[in-house]
Amino acid sequence: MTDNATDTLDSARFTGPVFNPGDPGYAEEIAGFQTAYTHRPALVVGAVHAEDVRAAVEYAARHGLPVAVQATGHGLSVAADGGVLVTTGRMDTITIDPQARTARIGAGVRAGALIEAAARHGLAPLNGSSLSVGVTGYVLGGGLGLLAREFGYAADHVRSIDLVTADGRMRTLVPGDELFGAVLGTGGNFGVVTGLELGLVAVTELYGGQLMFDTDLVDEALDAWRQWTATVPETLTSSIAVLTFPDIPPVPQPLRGRHVASIRIAFDGPAEDGERLVAPLRALGDRLRDDLRTMPYTESHAIHSDPDFPHAYAATNALLDDLTPAALSALRAQTAPGGPVDAVIDVRHLGGALRRGDGIAVDHRDAEYVVRVITGAGEGDQAPAGLAAVREALVPWTIGHSLNFLYGAGAAADAAQTAAGYAPETYARLRALKSKYDPHTMFRLNRTIA
Ligand SMILES: Cc1cc2nc3c(=O)[nH]c(=O)nc-3n(C[C@H](O)[C@H](O)[C@H](O)COP(=O)(O)OP(=O)(O)OC[C@H]3O[C@@H](n4cnc5c(N)ncnc54)[C@H](O)[C@@H]3O)c2cc1C
Repeated sequence: MTDNATDTLDSARFTGPVFNPGDPGYAEEIAGFQTAYTHRPALVVGAVHAEDVRAAVEYAARHGLPVAVQATGHGLSVAADGGVLVTTGRMDTITIDPQARTARIGAGVRAGALIEAAARHGLAPLNGSSLSVGVTGYVLGGGLGLLAREFGYAADHVRSIDLVTADGRMRTLVPGDELFGAVLGTGGNFGVVTGLELGLVAVTELYGGQLMFDTDLVDEALDAWRQWTATVPETLTSSIAVLTFPDIPPVPQPLRGRHVASIRIAFDGPAEDGERLVAPLRALGDRLRDDLRTMPYTESHAIHSDPDFPHAYAATNALLDDLTPAALSALRAQTAPGGPVDAVIDVRHLGGALRRGDGIAVDHRDAEYVVRVITGAGEGDQAPAGLAAVREALVPWTIGHSLNFLYGAGAAADAAQTAAGYAPETYARLRALKSKYDPHTMFRLNRTIA
């Protein structure tokens, strides 16, 4: 593929813009949330309609080119070096059916826009922690939401999928179709999604926020949270982050340079019950921050306060069958201040409804916790060595890895890592379907099924 890829491309067939390297707008079109590395395609199709996607795939098939997809760049794994990139940000339509409690969305819709649209009807999607994440990429990776223990994975609530496959066909998939269960959990392995129909839930407010403990209470908070998670109902989903704030002016003064543990709570129930449930955590001692309250669902992103600006990051994770004191010690030995790995740790409590879904390619549902390890990343796409060391330390408790919570390329996106996202029998089934529907691995610029 060369820079003159559009030689045989009839750009008049596209409603949206088409870019070659060097064109005005090319750099802006390929830029995404992840800044450590980026797609460098020979051709970008800024899709507006499903027909644009179909024409881009058909063009790629004719020329034997790989196709990458980008909505926001939050989950960039394997970057295109040549080939075709379909950007979906312009496919941003949202239609809510309040009676059916569903949303029909275009492939480029972000979580924040869907939360706002659903809230106008007293409904909520099963979004994750950040407003800026793309709904389609999130759902295709499973989608571990704020209320995951109550409602399961977001992918468990998909009603239909509009997909353009490698043969250029537009298909609408529904539960029971061979590809339906394969697409949910495998990123972009089977084609380009142009739209989704999603189930919504009748949630308008949450009791939640953060309880943040200072350095001297970090180990106690970790152990208390670990024990406490065994006692809470499925309507409560929580996580604990352990991090050291940088000692720089944008960080508010009481937090600058502090090593803290922050417990994040999302409870679908009345404030009185929420207060009663968190009382054992508050009893640990003074908090640097305690903003637990009943909030409109539209403010639920405050629970995690994820960064919303593009930056360079890498992350790995381990799905654990248990978080024993020994597992916590192994984690702390690697990541406590002065230890070998400088990272943000985020442990999310799983179980509940996450155990019960079936029929889609989201596995390891017996996991009780996911430990995430997130670091900054330099230029280039190699994961920092420390990430592998933390995973190694957690091996005795690890039953698999979450594909949505891997950030970075290289080893984070290789064949062995991708296979570890699935049970062996699921992976075998996915491989057979991959050969059937994508025989020339057009969709390999992602966590490819070998
Ligand atoms: C700050 C932050 C917070 C997050 N919080 C959560 C969370 O709470 N829970 C959770 O489960 N995950 C979370 N994630 C992970 C996130 O869900 C994944 O990174 C997801 O892949 C992002 O999708 P995207 O469309 O925004 O990113 P993109 O980088 O645009 O897309 C990621 C990949 O998804 C695939 N894809 C996207 N759109 C399509 C399409 N239309 N057709 C086919 N394939 C497509 C492609 O393979 C693409 O490479 C978070 C990530 C970040 C950076």
